[in-house]
Amino acid sequence: MSAHTAELLKTLVTDLYIGGKPVLAAGDRRFDVVNPATGATITTVADASVQDAIAAIDAAHEAGGAWAATAPRQRAEILRRAFDLMISNVERLARLICLENGKALRDARGEVTYAAEFFRWYSEEAVRGAGSVMTAPSGTNKILVLQQPVGICVLVTPWNFPAAMATRKIAPALAAGCTVVLKPASDTPLTALAMASILAEAGVPPGVVNILPSRHAGEVVSAMLHDPRVRKLSFTGSTEVGRVLLGQAADRVVNTSMELGGNAPFLVFADADLDAATEGAMVAKMRNAGEACTAANRFYVEAPVADEFSRRLAARMSAMVLGPGLQEDTDVGPLVNQDAVLKVDGLVRAAVKDGATALIGGKRPDREGYYFEPTVLVNVEPGAAILSEELFGPVAPIVTFESETQAIAFANSTEHGLVGYVYTGDLARGLRVSEALEFGMVGLNRGLVSDPAAPFGGSKQSGIGREGGHDGMLDYLESKYLAVQW
Ligand code: NAP
Repeated sequence: MSAHTAELLKTLVTDLYIGGKPVLAAGDRRFDVVNPATGATITTVADASVQDAIAAIDAAHEAGGAWAATAPRQRAEILRRAFDLMISNVERLARLICLENGKALRDARGEVTYAAEFFRWYSEEAVRGAGSVMTAPSGTNKILVLQQPVGICVLVTPWNFPAAMATRKIAPALAAGCTVVLKPASDTPLTALAMASILAEAGVPPGVVNILPSRHAGEVVSAMLHDPRVRKLSFTGSTEVGRVLLGQAADRVVNTSMELGGNAPFLVFADADLDAATEGAMVAKMRNAGEACTAANRFYVEAPVADEFSRRLAARMSAMVLGPGLQEDTDVGPLVNQDAVLKVDGLVRAAVKDGATALIGGKRPDREGYYFEPTVLVNVEPGAAILSEELFGPVAPIVTFESETQAIAFANSTEHGLVGYVYTGDLARGLRVSEALEFGMVGLNRGLVSDPAAPFGGSKQSGIGREGGHDGMLDYLESKYLAVQW
């Protein structure tokens, strides 16, 4: 461990964060946080129970009235300070992300900057209070619509973007005047805890943001959803857990936003600029070693260029340096844990058994930590299991298509609808295909769609609601209509 990293851990508070202070978990329960590059324990953090969760809701409830009444300008300035503080702490936070998540340092730096941008964007949105007034069609009265904060929000986030998935929820919630309890993924609680001190330094009052690491996600989140003071659940994670939480939220008709799993198709037409398509494929596939909901999961390439595209992608991926995220020249870090490696390994083996060929990679390297080699698979059957599961690893399965209609049918043959990518030199085709894709987002001649100013989210079983942009703020506001006569 470098001196830099040791210093980082020395100053990090690893208790629960409730009511603006570090709090021990009931019974002083703690759990291990593991470094995926080695499998060794980094540190332990407090393990929240139901009792702690209710204490966090108490704190959010107590702070709620004053925060909702705080002037939007003041809330905006606090969020802006949070942005500045994150930017001045990019290196520290990026190293922490590498340590607990495993991703390469340059991906982690990119994540921190992206995460910080949500504070900047929502500091700007906080003062653009929506609302409207109109004359009723009958002419008898006015229709006034106010936008009010929805209330206490429970935020549940995954391990793959431990900073950005938290700020993408905290920033709009605070801008709207809500208080929150965040339950970070138990694989990556350290980044969220580091952000608690940044938010406190920015001026977020005690109780407005509470952070609750826990190894008991099911019972802790369920208890909060059944507390009558909780009004909103914003969840980012797998479709499987999202379904369970939608069921629980139904008991009290809790407002929900769901950012769920993806299974992104990446279409390359024969008229595409192959340099650009390869570059875009590298971003869409290899950012975070493929551990992104937006990761290109299935490549569909038009027959005349399939061999050439596969060859180019394999050349680029095989040149990537596999290593610990904290090593400066690493391109691809370890996956988050052993289960993730076993899942990718199982899917690749099954595809090869069914006739696919690995142009590069295809196996786990012989080294400590949770690594999988960058892999390009060709001759993959359109119905292969590897195309229907979210891979979450550095593996690119390639299928050949013969026509635009077939490409669209292949792309849409999934329960997921988060993002799709299209590469073509024909603008009309690009727009036509984008329109036909059943996905909430499309990257047209672009391998990266995430942008704090844009409405991020999925259709079909990839979710409900949007995060980012103006829409992201609406998820934390509720319309109140006043029928007024004057
Ligand atoms: P996950 O297993 O669904 O977990 C997500 C969060 O839910 C974690 O905090 C987890 O806690 C918690 N959780 C697990 N079981 C729960 C339960 N029964 N009740 C309440 N909370 C529960 O997902 P993940 O493996 O962390 O993340 C990967 C998934 O997230 C992928 O499917 C990916 O596509 C999706 N994702 C989607 C987006 C998007 O914007 N659409 C963005 C990023 C990731 P523990 O960690 O303690 O289990």
